[in-house]
Amino acid sequence: MSELRPETRIVHVPQPVVTDSRPISVPIYQTSGFVFDDPAVMAGAMGRPDGAFVYGRYTNPTVRSLELAVAGLEGGVAAIATGSGMGAINIVLLGLLKPGDHLIAQRSLYGGTAAMINDLTARFGIEVTYVPENDPAALRAAARPETRLVYLETISNPMTLVADLPAMCGAARELGIPSVVDNTFATGLLCRPIEHGADIVVHSTTKYLSGHTDVVGGIAVFADSARYEQVWRFAIELGATAEPFASWLTLRGLQTLALRMERHCSNARHLATRLAGHPAVAAVHWPGLPSHPSYELAGRLLSGFGGVFSFDLAGGRAAGEKFMSSVRLALLAPSLGGVETLVLHPATTSHRAMSAEDLAANGIGEGTVRISVGIEHPEDLWADVSQALA
Ligand SMILES: *Cc1c(COP(=O)(O)O)cnc(C)c1O
Repeated sequence: MSELRPETRIVHVPQPVVTDSRPISVPIYQTSGFVFDDPAVMAGAMGRPDGAFVYGRYTNPTVRSLELAVAGLEGGVAAIATGSGMGAINIVLLGLLKPGDHLIAQRSLYGGTAAMINDLTARFGIEVTYVPENDPAALRAAARPETRLVYLETISNPMTLVADLPAMCGAARELGIPSVVDNTFATGLLCRPIEHGADIVVHSTTKYLSGHTDVVGGIAVFADSARYEQVWRFAIELGATAEPFASWLTLRGLQTLALRMERHCSNARHLATRLAGHPAVAAVHWPGLPSHPSYELAGRLLSGFGGVFSFDLAGGRAAGEKFMSSVRLALLAPSLGGVETLVLHPATTSHRAMSAEDLAANGIGEGTVRISVGIEHPEDLWADVSQALA
């Protein structure tokens, strides 16, 4: 190389080959493509999910590491990491549905998913029937010959209703319809939907899996390889792929998920129990409380009750607004599942366009507060929440 001019030599930088040792941490493969010595090997690698690494939109070793880790956690055969949770949901819905198909979805859905399904109906003529998340008879009654997917969420937002996955995924399976479960709120540590009959699990890795409020990402995990390959082909056409640095941050977060989840759940129990006994609070919606409609099911299905819940302030909208401006440690912010405690008042923020009646139809009161409990010391959290209620 010494005969090359300096301008050329600085373009073709030396790359040490790591042989007798390996990196402990997964390296960030910050490259858009890969070099081949043999054109035939390159040709053979293109257009297959299991070939040699070729191009960053197909996959990348850092991204693949995340895909293998989450597929392993969820008990799936393979996974596709995406640029956001909505990206994961969309590669599944758009990759598996076509005009004229029918979808069965649970009634209480994440807002972005609900908007996407409305769009699928309006623009692509995909019909949808909504059923309760715990009613397999309603699912069977809704099924048609053209029903192609059943869509569920392990724990709903913000009322934390738990879907009866064994009953619902089981009914879908008997009908020969694949089921998709958004497992963002539970994570594969509290619940593994594939063990209960789900065919695909989707996540917003923005939330608990990455856990540090510093990355947006998603992932879809598959129970069988044929459906994985079908969706993978569509995902690379759509260009929904995750990028290496975001995947690396998510992998780093994933390594401490078990420790964080334990604390999120125990802190949530601490706050939910105390809030339930507070005179300013009319109701607490956390599935770990016996008063919650999903309490019994959650006890059977989940190995922890989760770190997100909502509660209704007796003073309605005014009390909600006052609470939001009075918290000091808890932060007024969207998103959830990070190490910091975040609060949101749907009636004056995310759902401000809705009337009191529309809010009520969605199970949200004017005084409802959603809290994503972080990993701070529980007494500091209670001190903050109780001073904001005073
Ligand atoms: C946040 C979230 C999504 C969307 O994920 P993004 O990463 O924001 O695209 C989907 N489902 C649930 C349950 C979520 O909480």
